[in-house]
Amino acid sequence: MSKDEHTSEGRKAGHDSTPTTSSSCVSAGPVRLRRLRFSSGLRALVSETHLSASDLIYPLFVRPGTGVKKPIESMPGQFQWSPDTAVEEAQAAAEWGVPAVILFGIPESKDSCGSGNLDPEGPVPAAARALKRELPDLLVISDMCFCEYTDHGHCGPVNLPGEERYRPDLPEGYLLNDYTLELLGRASVVHASAGADVIAPSGMIDGMVGAIRTALDAAGSEHTVIMSYAAKYASAFYGPFRDAAESPPTFGDRSQYQMDAPNVRQALREVELDLAEGADIVMVKPALPYLDIIRAVRSTCAAPLAAYQVSGEYSMIHAAADKGWLDLQGCAMESLVGIKRAGADMIITYFAKDVARWIA
Ligand SMILES: [Zn+2]
Repeated sequence: MSKDEHTSEGRKAGHDSTPTTSSSCVSAGPVRLRRLRFSSGLRALVSETHLSASDLIYPLFVRPGTGVKKPIESMPGQFQWSPDTAVEEAQAAAEWGVPAVILFGIPESKDSCGSGNLDPEGPVPAAARALKRELPDLLVISDMCFCEYTDHGHCGPVNLPGEERYRPDLPEGYLLNDYTLELLGRASVVHASAGADVIAPSGMIDGMVGAIRTALDAAGSEHTVIMSYAAKYASAFYGPFRDAAESPPTFGDRSQYQMDAPNVRQALREVELDLAEGADIVMVKPALPYLDIIRAVRSTCAAPLAAYQVSGEYSMIHAAADKGWLDLQGCAMESLVGIKRAGADMIITYFAKDVARWIA
């Protein structure tokens, strides 16, 4: 140990204010926190945060067809699946102890109001049915948004002349909030009827949780859980996801409805409102650049809290590992432990299957 390190250990042990002998060698004293780091057994015994496979939710991108396993270039190790291959991949993850998958749909065709999301034969309902049939204990979460289904890539129908419900008093391109709520309610009923255990509205549409709860309850799906993307930030870290889900906006961006990075208190208001509307689980997304938000939500609300380690967080670790600059497994594990330590109860992560295997 260098003299500098030794001195700093002495300070950590509270020796700054303690009279010392005239010896040039500072004693570490009776408190030596290194004792508890001496072996892997001790480190495990005093570990304050435990990451386990049962904390993880595995995202799967599902498109129509059979036998599909299409690599996603910007997300190494991730693929677009068809319902049958999604079942195989989910089974592989479940065998390592991953309890849940979250499904994103890539429809055959898109239109201005995202009607593909209402199709009971669409990729997500088809995959949900197949998963519940083959793996009844696996939890199926349906990401509920329209951006994968609209031809303009926004999270619901937008205000354009000639389109249904055009409003000349609103700006062109404005996302039509309340029309989107109706559609979210209808699509949620379709997905829940197909077997989704959890509906996860991700569009940051005002009132989405209440609208979905009302629609589900009216359809007899009162046991379907709502996991709300309550504090979802307009983030540059979503870049690779838009390749994966084939859903980049063709004009504008999502900053009119997703949150602005500098805000903390607004996240707490979003969470509070979603809980008041009936959310069972709330989420912060992305995770790593927003650990303070996870901590703030954890400190102020008792509901289960999810965090989404997004595509950019995943891909940048992979990219640096490919260059030999970072250790893939070490960085993946450390980032997930950090998210858990910040206060997340569960983490949506593209590393889910790998991490579950590493932990096992
Ligand atoms: Zn969306």
